[in-house]
Amino acid sequence: MPGKNLTRDEAASRASILRVDSYDVRLDLTTGPENFHTVTTVTFSCSEAGADSFIDLIADSVEKVTLNGVDLDPAEVFADSRIALSGLAAENELTVDATGRYTNTGEGLHRFVDPVDNEVYLYTQFEVPDSRRMYAVFEQPDLKASFRFTVTAPAHWKVISNSPTPAPQAAGVADGVERATWSFEPTKRISSYITALIAGPYDEVRDEVQTRKGVVPLGVFCRRSLTQYLDADNIFDCTKKGFAFFEEEFDQPYPFEKYDQIFTPEYNMGAMENAGAVTFVEVYVFRSKVSEAKIERRALTILHELAHMWFGNLVTMKWWDDLWLNESFAEWASTTCQAEATEWTSAWTTFGTSEKAWAYTQDQLSSTHPIAADMRHLEDVEVNFDGITYAKGASVLKQLVAYVGREPFVAALREYFRKHAWGNTTLADLLGELEKASGRELTEWSKLWLETAGVNTLRPVFEVDADGRYSSFAITQTATEEYPTLRPHRIGVGRYAVRRSGSGDASDVLERIGYDEVDISGERTDLTELVGQEQPDLLLLNDDDLAYGKIRLDERSLATALSLPRGFADSLPRSLVLGATWDMTRDGEMPARDFVRFVLESLPGETDSTLLRVLIGQVSTAARLYTAPEHRAEVSALLSSSLRSLAESAESGSDAQFQLVEAWAASTSDPADEPRLRALLTGAESLPELTVDTELRWTFIKALAALGAADEVEIATELDRDPTATGKERAAEALAARPTAEAKADAWAKAVERNDLSNQMVEAVSAGFRRSADLSLLEPYVEKYHAMLVDAWAQRSVAIGERVVGGFYPFSLASAQLKDASDAWLAANTDAAPGLVRTVAENRDTIARALVAQERDRRG
Ligand SMILES: [Zn+2]
Repeated sequence: MPGKNLTRDEAASRASILRVDSYDVRLDLTTGPENFHTVTTVTFSCSEAGADSFIDLIADSVEKVTLNGVDLDPAEVFADSRIALSGLAAENELTVDATGRYTNTGEGLHRFVDPVDNEVYLYTQFEVPDSRRMYAVFEQPDLKASFRFTVTAPAHWKVISNSPTPAPQAAGVADGVERATWSFEPTKRISSYITALIAGPYDEVRDEVQTRKGVVPLGVFCRRSLTQYLDADNIFDCTKKGFAFFEEEFDQPYPFEKYDQIFTPEYNMGAMENAGAVTFVEVYVFRSKVSEAKIERRALTILHELAHMWFGNLVTMKWWDDLWLNESFAEWASTTCQAEATEWTSAWTTFGTSEKAWAYTQDQLSSTHPIAADMRHLEDVEVNFDGITYAKGASVLKQLVAYVGREPFVAALREYFRKHAWGNTTLADLLGELEKASGRELTEWSKLWLETAGVNTLRPVFEVDADGRYSSFAITQTATEEYPTLRPHRIGVGRYAVRRSGSGDASDVLERIGYDEVDISGERTDLTELVGQEQPDLLLLNDDDLAYGKIRLDERSLATALSLPRGFADSLPRSLVLGATWDMTRDGEMPARDFVRFVLESLPGETDSTLLRVLIGQVSTAARLYTAPEHRAEVSALLSSSLRSLAESAESGSDAQFQLVEAWAASTSDPADEPRLRALLTGAESLPELTVDTELRWTFIKALAALGAADEVEIATELDRDPTATGKERAAEALAARPTAEAKADAWAKAVERNDLSNQMVEAVSAGFRRSADLSLLEPYVEKYHAMLVDAWAQRSVAIGERVVGGFYPFSLASAQLKDASDAWLAANTDAAPGLVRTVAENRDTIARALVAQERDRRG
């Protein structure tokens, strides 16, 4: 029984006989809060007379199925999310009349009610296989077609889809609601996963952009209650820079008629590249102060989705095997655009600091996989929107650009778009163009980098003569037992010297005195370039961050780095050295307490917002999970007191001040902080130029709740001040963060035992649940957690299942008992759903690594 799954083989055989011409989808969104009415008429041809096939649909019921004028019995043909079609003619017309269901999980057609004004907002999210939740569809990317949507909805709504929004026609009154019908023009031939419908009383801001094909209208939309915070000018500005850059880079006009960007409630990911109707998560409408890192990230997301209009939407992967290429390309293209065409010129540093760290972490979990993953069926695809598909893929693609050269790369891209516009491709099509343009053979490169998993570790090994010069120098490369592949790398080797300032250690700096770019491969590469050079104070492998690999510092370099935490003027080498110590800590080669101290000494004066964000995350993890239990209280006290004093001494009103205050409030478990938190909340105390706005108030309330100092009444009072959807999530998180057995049990009951919370609420409740300085509160959940998994997963959609299984794991325990319980569950449940097994295995790996790090920390 396929259930909701679809295999690659089934898709391939369906595509081999069918060609879909068009869909005519008629939707009535005025039939109540649970269901909608959907009628799909598909015209398609079949090359094999009399053949059988099927169309996909997830619906509460199917009222009528008509194939080529003959009515089929829905009870006979509709099962397992499919409608069986038999005896197909050369040309076919199929009509399916069904009742669809709105979701609150961010999959399919999501329905949200704004608590501020009770207005209803809908949006779709279809990737990977969820357009079938709105209409009957041959759900696979290579069966492209033209889509025509006709939508009946309340007359005061905006209705947005892939084609420009037409003028609505009055459609009478039903249940006291005035209705209208929007008849969209048919789209060009696109894949179903990038079709979209967004409907509700969204507010709208309009602009336009001059493109190669003339003026293209631009729209930005959000819920009415968020409009006051919408900085549309900034969004349009970034979007226009992207249009100009990509049209030039790809030598191909923007493929669609208009470009709308809609901020949507309870959204699962960052954004989705629906053709001409991109949806974004609402946290990108900044209702309170956010970090510079988040502003930069939003710009990158805007450019990422825009890049997909060409790579992904105009030219589309044949099957999900090339999902990584789709995503990695968009990451590469958007980062390149951001660095070269916007004010964020150090976008690649941000990429190295943030995205690559994500890739390295993911690549060291037992669930890691080759970049080019084998996507046998949809269940394989759904778990692969991960750090390998996005971040490692993009890191490796960046290397590929360096390997073939930027100019040949762009030439190949242009040819690729010209040749495959509106079609479907595989990786081989792109590699073929790259080989032609560059003259380089790429089979071996592709094999080593795309078809194998794992990250290599690179170390300098050398001898120094009596004069302090290298008498030998090599770089060694190792791999893990599970993923033994050694790879070719092009890497920079930087040499730095301490320059004494004369006015004391604090202003001593590290100056780069030499740099070599070298190719290495295999277990050991001797580098004659370095022989005879004076041993520097600090030798940095992977300087300039060209390579994808973990690096180690030699003893002297590590000592220099630790003694001069603010020695680098540039944030990239600082980030690389900090990254190396992070890897050493995670690999049990450096005590977590040393790492915590090093980071705390590196933070003062840090202005790179992303580096600051990443370091705060790492230092919190090190204190919470990697420190030996006997030192944890002391380290956690050091962490929160340091963050507080760093916040107090940070530049007035700066990004650092803001991030440090947030981090302090998020990390503290010190009851002595209660009066300070409260004073900041009430305004009795303040930090210079720090505005305690809506979100920061919640940050303080959550901290007070976690300390047991904010009760239900105070949380409810705060919710009265901010009675928004986000306010509700914050309140739920605060309630779950209270340090009592009842609060934890209540959180568990709401999100684990019941299954009616929306995706965002599950996330909020689980975040509060996990937050617990008193570990004894979480101990009972080791058993409860493993006992609920199979049933909880079976009852939930993928998006909610992942949030429950990932979010309610009692990570903070970080104990052998927790790891053993997960190991036992994994051993006993080898046949459980792949997505479930994978999430549990990743949780378990996190604890296994923590135990290794704790052991090292214990030895000091
Ligand atoms: Zn993407």
